[in-house]
Amino acid sequence: MVNVPAMFGERVFNDETMKKYLPKGTYKELKQTIEDGKPLDINIANIVAHAMKEWAIENGATHYTHWFQPMTGITAEKHDSFISPTAGGGVIMEFSGKELIKGEPDASSFPSGGIRATFEARGYTAWDPTSYAFIKDGSLCIPTAFCSYTGEALDKKTPLLRSMECINTQALRIVRVFGDKTTTHISATVGPEQEYFLVDKKAYEKRKDLIYCGRTLFGARPPKGQELDDHYFGSIKPRVSAFMKDLDEELWKYGILAKTKHNEVAPAQHELAPIFDTTNIATDHNQLTMEIMKKVAENHGLVCLLHEKPFAGVNGSGKHNNWSIATNTGRNLLNPTKNPRENTEFLVFLAAVIRAVDENQDLLRISVASAGNDHRLGANEAPPAIMSMYLGDDLTEVLRSVLSGQEYKTEGKQVMRTTAEVLPNFTKDTSDRNRTSPFAFTGNKFEFRSVGSSENIACANFMINTMVADVLEDFADQLEKADDVKAAAEALVKKTLEDHKRIIFNGNNYSDEWVEEAKKRGLLNLRSLPDALPLYTSEKNIRLFTKHNVLTEKELRSRCEVLLEKYSKIINIEALTALDMAKKDILPAVTNYIKDLAETANLVKSVDPELVPAAQTELMRKLTNLLNCFVKKIDALDQAVVGAKAIVGAAESAMYFKESVLAAMQELRAVADEMESNMSAKAWPYPSYGNLLFSV
Ligand code: ADP
Ligand code: MG
Repeated sequence: MVNVPAMFGERVFNDETMKKYLPKGTYKELKQTIEDGKPLDINIANIVAHAMKEWAIENGATHYTHWFQPMTGITAEKHDSFISPTAGGGVIMEFSGKELIKGEPDASSFPSGGIRATFEARGYTAWDPTSYAFIKDGSLCIPTAFCSYTGEALDKKTPLLRSMECINTQALRIVRVFGDKTTTHISATVGPEQEYFLVDKKAYEKRKDLIYCGRTLFGARPPKGQELDDHYFGSIKPRVSAFMKDLDEELWKYGILAKTKHNEVAPAQHELAPIFDTTNIATDHNQLTMEIMKKVAENHGLVCLLHEKPFAGVNGSGKHNNWSIATNTGRNLLNPTKNPRENTEFLVFLAAVIRAVDENQDLLRISVASAGNDHRLGANEAPPAIMSMYLGDDLTEVLRSVLSGQEYKTEGKQVMRTTAEVLPNFTKDTSDRNRTSPFAFTGNKFEFRSVGSSENIACANFMINTMVADVLEDFADQLEKADDVKAAAEALVKKTLEDHKRIIFNGNNYSDEWVEEAKKRGLLNLRSLPDALPLYTSEKNIRLFTKHNVLTEKELRSRCEVLLEKYSKIINIEALTALDMAKKDILPAVTNYIKDLAETANLVKSVDPELVPAAQTELMRKLTNLLNCFVKKIDALDQAVVGAKAIVGAAESAMYFKESVLAAMQELRAVADEMESNMSAKAWPYPSYGNLLFSV
């Protein structure tokens, strides 16, 4: 039997463990640091470090590492052992407060977007006491923020922590205005639903594209895809089920609240959802979850693909980012409660999110922009690149009433009558679902659906936190001055809705009509990363991030640069991989196959000169024509890649990679896929789509 409560958090220096290992006074001081951000005295840090080390050693650790999230998007770690030499030639195990608080990794090999000149390559990692330390592979991992020698953020965690401070400050002002005197802290909360693919490791290893790029660059469509909708929520196959069981148990040991698992829409696609937490913890846990997914998959002879679009023609993977704001007294500020029309405080928070999304469509799009996610957004499987919000019937009716001044008509919770006597009746969830909306209200939270499966959710969340805090600040400025708060808030909500109602769209976001309609409404449609990124450094965004101390202008510019460069680098790697596969594997394979056909044709004629080998000749002709075309496309892609070297500027370069290189890759692929469809499976050098998608 699996004892879940016993294993839960066994690898984490969590509250329970702290209580056990720390003197009472130290525990209290550390708690104050965690909860109120009080600076930690070095003496206290020394005691904490010692206790952590004792606990870690008891649990098999020999090393420690500052665990951080550089701009690469994955987590980084550098391991130091606890050993310290003694006079007698032996060692003792040591870990000081200084080592806990600060690390000095060489920053020169991490992307900085021009912030860091090589002569000041040193970077610092600083302990984030709000996220528990944990043991992974024999190392005590200390969650840290990463910055340059001159203090600029070089990671994803720093702006997230800063944004959490600003949403706390501004949201507190609002709840105070509405008479809440007991709340002392407000956090943004997040529950990210993680989608992923599982493929057989042996098949994976035969595909350079999967190994180098995480996605297939070639592959003819299999006879069956996802058209029967028979995979979504389908029963889970034994091998996958064994993987999921192991995964859950691993995650629980790390204190990660893994809750839901199921099959997704595409064959070989699955999802895992945790119970929500503060944005900071949720981000750390999601990073860890992705890492553990890959590791556990290996143990099962599988490979976990987190790329947003591993396969053309079937759905890609995303990460629904469920977001809300909650008080430390347990109040969810986006809970509409029984009568939302009368819940002015709720309406103020709702209006703030509506205005924030409308004013910052560009940032939301930027927050999920990546080479991988560009394949997904707007491909009728994920929300379009146009940002809009879905509120559902109930809230739409509330807002109609606010705008018109007319009475709010609610049918309340409807009882759903199941028609069979034996089944219980239950109340209907009033927030009806609209799966096509990028930013949907789902009962007591918003679900931002555009995030890519491999992306670090810190980015989306620091932007959402900051843009909402910015509006809340303006609202608080107005409401704190008001004599009649309720009346002022009503007027504020009404005005906000009038100004920003264009962002609300309850219809089908996948339809062509919406693209037209959105254009009429003046909404942005930023189709790709190179289209979106230049807006990152607009005056509006510089003002927003500097005003709230989330990013300095220098940090903002560097981030933009890093994202653009990464995009170009990824497409460059993809193009080189495609060329390698085309020249070294596909071209020879097709040539050989044509040779086989020719030999067979001759053989046929030699047996019986009267016999016409029409089948072989016809196929030979077809494949030879395709191969001639293929060679031209190889040439074109080669030239496109070379041409990139002449482009100056990160934005220009990214645009070039999209318009010239990516386009040339797609043309090359089309010919290859056509050849694959016309060849024997044995002669094709790679496992087919059918093989990859249906073999587990
Ligand atoms: P579904 O959207 O599939 O119906 P749920 O509504 O139960 O499922 O939740 C999906 C995700 O949203 C889960 O990860 C859950 O923890 C998270 N979630 C629920 N409430 C909140 C909240 N107040 N803040 C942030 N995330 C939340
Ligand atoms: Mg959901």
